[in-house]
Amino acid sequence: MSKTEAAVAGTRRALLGDEIVERINQLGAISETPEHLARLAADLILVWMREAGMAAHLDAIGNVCGRYEGDRPGLPCLMLGSHYDTVRDAGKWDGPLGVITAISCVADLCKKDRRLPFAIEVTGFADEEGVRFASTLLGSRAIAGTFVESALNSRDHAGISMRDALTQFGLDPEHIGAAARARRELHAYVELHIEQGPVLEQHNLPVGVVTAIAGATRLAAHLTGMAGHAGTVPMALRRDALAGAAECITKIEELCQTDGGGLVGTVGYIDAMPGATNVIPGRVNFTLDIRAPTDAHRKRAVADIVRHIEAIAKRRGLALQVDVTHENRTVPCAPWLKGQVAEAVATEGYPVFELPSGAGHDGMAMIDIADVAMIFVRCRGGISHHPAEHVEPADADAGARVLLRLIENFRPREG
Ligand SMILES: [Zn+2]
Repeated sequence: MSKTEAAVAGTRRALLGDEIVERINQLGAISETPEHLARLAADLILVWMREAGMAAHLDAIGNVCGRYEGDRPGLPCLMLGSHYDTVRDAGKWDGPLGVITAISCVADLCKKDRRLPFAIEVTGFADEEGVRFASTLLGSRAIAGTFVESALNSRDHAGISMRDALTQFGLDPEHIGAAARARRELHAYVELHIEQGPVLEQHNLPVGVVTAIAGATRLAAHLTGMAGHAGTVPMALRRDALAGAAECITKIEELCQTDGGGLVGTVGYIDAMPGATNVIPGRVNFTLDIRAPTDAHRKRAVADIVRHIEAIAKRRGLALQVDVTHENRTVPCAPWLKGQVAEAVATEGYPVFELPSGAGHDGMAMIDIADVAMIFVRCRGGISHHPAEHVEPADADAGARVLLRLIENFRPREG
């Protein structure tokens, strides 16, 4: 690279990173306001998309959709994006970083008047987090054509139905079907997202190549023993549901700790009844969230865990009921596409480091109509869903350069 080229590249790098951070802050400021924040955020993203040379619109579920044509109109696209909703009172990077970075990359191409042999679409997905209506991936499901109509009847805490909320947003919930895209319209879906974990930081790397979005199984366990007086029932005659749950929980932790293959298990909620200082707990409910890099691994682990807690319950004379409350499959990143992400990382001068995503992402819905890959960007302390969530501008910039390199070198899958 000549000195001039290096200077130009240096300017571009600085501009990309600075612009991204500034826009993240602008969107973050909007989400501090309680009223109409989603609509304001969407409108701002539409403006940025148009400034970047894209045709942009809101679809019927509230996804912000931008399209930058290829060297001729109507070509299938490389779709980029992430969700633009954030968890309230939480971080501003989770989601918007992927949308804003993709727009900045397109703006860079547009500035250079560069057209590629495929179109680029940037999608800001609505309601990935499912904060308001407790159902996630609404926007990406609408695009993948797997949106379930009945979700429109779900209500938020204030009793407002999703149908009414969408109408207030200026959308037409009866036309959500029109948001669906066909497989032939997409070459692939690539999402850039903060890691939401501490692994990249631990390895001192700004970016990582995602191998798969881990599937998850959520269980609800109910243990029933016998409530009794804390003073009068001798220890040997007790059937303490909470002590039983405690043993189950430490066993679950031990099984996951000794797995060594990326299995993670969390008991995140527990309640004990009757819940009084001087009463032996007679009933306990707790939840269990199990994730692993492959479905086979996760299913094996769930079966193993259930067998162990059944044995604990039996030995303690407790009745156990376990219900599966939620299950989603693992979404592997397509090897051909992941390979191109790795190439882009290497070309930008970073070590290629692969890691699975333990958190869910829109790719889980997009897999139904496209091959999927993801780029992770380091976030401070692995913290997300918290106001302390932070990405260094230099890392936002590294992510942008990798994404831009991927776009410029992108080759659709052959055959
Ligand atoms: Zn996210």
